[in-house]
Amino acid sequence: MDSEEFRHWSRQAADWGADYRATLRERPVRAQTRPGDIARQIGDAPPEAGENMEAIFADFERIIPDGLTHWQHPRFFAYFPANAAPVSVIADYLVTAIAAQCMLWQTSPAATELETRVIDWLRQALGLPEGFSGLIQDSASTATLTATLVMREKALGWKGNSEGLAAHRTVRVYASNQVHTSIDRAIWIAGIGEANLLRIPTRGALNGMNPAALDAAIRADLAAGHIPAGVIACTGGTSIGACDPIREVAAIAKAHGLYLHVDAAWAGSAMICPEFRVLWDGIEAADSIVFNPHKWLGANFDCSVQFIRSPEDQVRTLAIQPEFLKTHGHDGLINYSEWSVPLGRRFRALKLWFLMRHHGLEGLRGMIRNHVKWSQELARRLAAEPDFTIVSEPVLSLFSFRHEGPGEPDQRNIALVNAINDDGRIYLTQTRVDDRIAIRFQAGQFEMTQDDTDTAFEVITEIARGLA
Ligand code: PLP
Repeated sequence: MDSEEFRHWSRQAADWGADYRATLRERPVRAQTRPGDIARQIGDAPPEAGENMEAIFADFERIIPDGLTHWQHPRFFAYFPANAAPVSVIADYLVTAIAAQCMLWQTSPAATELETRVIDWLRQALGLPEGFSGLIQDSASTATLTATLVMREKALGWKGNSEGLAAHRTVRVYASNQVHTSIDRAIWIAGIGEANLLRIPTRGALNGMNPAALDAAIRADLAAGHIPAGVIACTGGTSIGACDPIREVAAIAKAHGLYLHVDAAWAGSAMICPEFRVLWDGIEAADSIVFNPHKWLGANFDCSVQFIRSPEDQVRTLAIQPEFLKTHGHDGLINYSEWSVPLGRRFRALKLWFLMRHHGLEGLRGMIRNHVKWSQELARRLAAEPDFTIVSEPVLSLFSFRHEGPGEPDQRNIALVNAINDDGRIYLTQTRVDDRIAIRFQAGQFEMTQDDTDTAFEVITEIARGLA
């Protein structure tokens, strides 16, 4: 492809993207295809001869959009959002064109230095004290894995990497049953084993872990000769938004010399609004915090920020320097690949820089405050209907509900979610609360308006009563 063709097709792609965003409201939110519908339209074997771009682009337009679930649709109320504000998409076009691999300072100084700067902008935006530095990772799962490896290494006197876990007593980690499954996977991958992830019971309206039970579990493990390594707390759990009492949990972790990692993958974005910071009161005592600007804040996926108190501990756990990665003459500079599991790194800071500059913190706060307000209004409206129950009260913009009626309750509510998503005007997903199905609603899409929650109310009530 010569440079004129590259220019032409890049413009075509940008035009397509703008048209796509402008017409999202006309599309069903969740893909309406059946398994295999897309695969059947794609050749079984790769082409031997190259094809022209007209044919490739035409096939893209013909085959792919129908098989997409539209995460940027204003009525995407499922899971958590994966917002991509247009300005961050533009930044990512540039990043894609530049295609730098930013593993070391010298492999793109601008990427490293901008990353350091935007991490500090975000630290200030979230109200975190000086003393936290951090990095951009691909996902919260990776950030939590990284934190788990650091807590393991610290607990094993920095000998886990070299000696393996078999040479040591059992390492234990503590979390509530409300944490995301990425915590389980971090525990598996770190070699700690699911049996050594202790589930601390929860209490109270926010379903946070019980600090007294945490303390008792750590003491029992010490008495049994185990090695308590760390606590993984959450602010805004995935199912119903559970928030651990960070101040009390941190005090217990510190008293026992344990590492504290806080998963605020979704709720962290809301902390740009000072009034929501009560949900992670005491956060300054954490050793590591993860939040995903690619969820609610509007930075194109992937963009997960890990704040850390001690980069030295992270580097001690993860850095490895064969001769081919040494940067003689540039010692002492940040090489972010030494702070993370993968060596290769995308240039992720650019989209955060564009996003924060274009919208300003006030613009982003306004969006989040609206989502919280609209979601809480919808919860109130549903609560006022005789055949709906609010199962979990709103935490920020997330709540869950059930439709009450004849028949087995779980089957009725699964059927309702499926019917809503087949209808296509909105998209919702379900969870389990106290072992019963509940339907989740979260408002968080960058382009949504209050009318979209009105539509959600109409669709939910209309379809529920139609099924009844
Ligand atoms: N933590 C929480 C609270 C989440 O809700 C999620 C995903 O929704 C994750 C972690 C995993 O995020 P990621 O996809 O960035 O690994």
